Amino acid sequence: MDNKFMAIVSGFKNYAFQNKEIEELALERARICAECPFAVETMFKQILPDDSIKQIEGLKCSDCGCILSAKVRQIIDSCPQHKW
Ligand code: SF4
Repeated sequence: MDNKFMAIVSGFKNYAFQNKEIEELALERARICAECPFAVETMFKQILPDDSIKQIEGLKCSDCGCILSAKVRQIIDSCPQHKW
C-alpha cells in the first residue's frame, strides 16, 4: 500500500490512541509546523480537536495536504519541506 496513505492512517491512529513517546515527538514537530507558512486553516477544527497540541489544531499542510494533527503523529513520512 502507498506509504503516504499508510502514514496518514498511522497518524490518525496515534491521534485517536495517544502514547507519550509519539506525543513528545509530535509536539516538537508541531512547534515547527505552527511557524511554517504552509500550515493553513481548515474547517476541521470542530470535528478534529487537538487538546494536547493546540498550536496545530484544525490546520493542514498546504504542501502535502495532510491534516497536521495526524501528520506530526506518524513516523513513516517526513515534512515535504524537510523542516523535520
Ligand atoms: S509538514 Fe513541513 S511544510 Fe508542512 S506545515 Fe509542517 S513544517 Fe510546514
